[in-house]
Amino acid sequence: MVALVGVGERGRAILEALLDIPAIEVRYYVDTDPSAPGVALARERGVRCRADGRFDELRDDGDVELILETTGSPETLEALAASEHSHARLLDSAGVRILAHLLMARQETTARLEQQLRDGERRIAELSAAVDRAPVEMARYLRQASHQIKTPLSAIETYVNVILGGYTGEIPERTREIIEKIHSRCEAALRSLAKRRMLADLRCAGRDGLEMSTVHLNELAGQAVDLHAALAGERGVDIRLLAHEGADLVRCDPPKMVVLLSELVENAVVYSRADGMVEVSVVAVADGHLEVRVRDQGIGIPERCLPRIFDDDYRADPAVQHHQDGAGLGLAIAREVADLHQFDLTVESEEGRGSVFTLSVPPAPAA
Ligand code: ADP
Repeated sequence: MVALVGVGERGRAILEALLDIPAIEVRYYVDTDPSAPGVALARERGVRCRADGRFDELRDDGDVELILETTGSPETLEALAASEHSHARLLDSAGVRILAHLLMARQETTARLEQQLRDGERRIAELSAAVDRAPVEMARYLRQASHQIKTPLSAIETYVNVILGGYTGEIPERTREIIEKIHSRCEAALRSLAKRRMLADLRCAGRDGLEMSTVHLNELAGQAVDLHAALAGERGVDIRLLAHEGADLVRCDPPKMVVLLSELVENAVVYSRADGMVEVSVVAVADGHLEVRVRDQGIGIPERCLPRIFDDDYRADPAVQHHQDGAGLGLAIAREVADLHQFDLTVESEEGRGSVFTLSVPPAPAA
């Protein structure tokens, strides 16, 4: 417990520094000048005042351990020394000057550390904002880049079509084969670009890009199946839809849901073997959710590859051997759409035996 005699300039600075130290309590100050610089601060912080210049209260208070004489006046020091303080030690103005230096140095260090802490916090906030923005910035960049690549690629495809259409005259058989390869590569690249652009658009728009409505899940699953019926026919894959008999209303962005389901159905067809079967079923499960299950009996996915199949640009080795033209983006799109809706998308697969992708959707709230 400390008492302060004099709250002039130096006294005020010492008072301020001491009040900053939680372990120290300043109980009294003595100053006869009501306009002394530290008076307001002392009052504000509840330090008791003796404005009559008397020291008896300090002397009688057994808790006061130290009295700081800050005025430098020999008379005050004498009066203090003359009064009998049972416990308190008296620090004269020379001691107080040194104490003041130490306290100021401490205050400066504290202020510097606080500033560094604030700078650090600001930097962390800036960095985390940049980290949050990074995927969207990246998506924007990819959207722009894919647009720039699309234009020349489409032009090449058009020229190739002109040549293949015979508009530039007869082409030797060997040249035709090469040009057909160019054509099919162009088409694959354009398909891949379209998917990359779609993924970028989804990431740029985020949840704000969803246009929600209440629709029948059976119908969405049916649309996804219809989109790939021709492909299934070409590949000799039997595709069927098992619709749910009961209530099937869900809240979602319907075109985006069709994109999601369509990616699953396309993969099921593409990674099936000829004579394989793809079954798309809508079922109600115990917790009231509806599930769309896309099941195939195709090449399956090796267990070690399963954790990565929803990543951008990832293709498992058996898939690359089975079908060269994949873009490695379909499941990233499906996952993005599912995440935006907060729907669960899971996979179970056995290499060589087939896969089941399951999308879990809550039923639409009652109107
Ligand atoms: P892509 O099919 O163009 O390669 P996707 O992102 O749609 O890209 O799929 C990523 C990978 O997941 C595929 O390359 C394949 O390895 C695996 N995969 C997805 N669906 C199936 C499936 N039904 N059967 C086997 N593998 C699949």
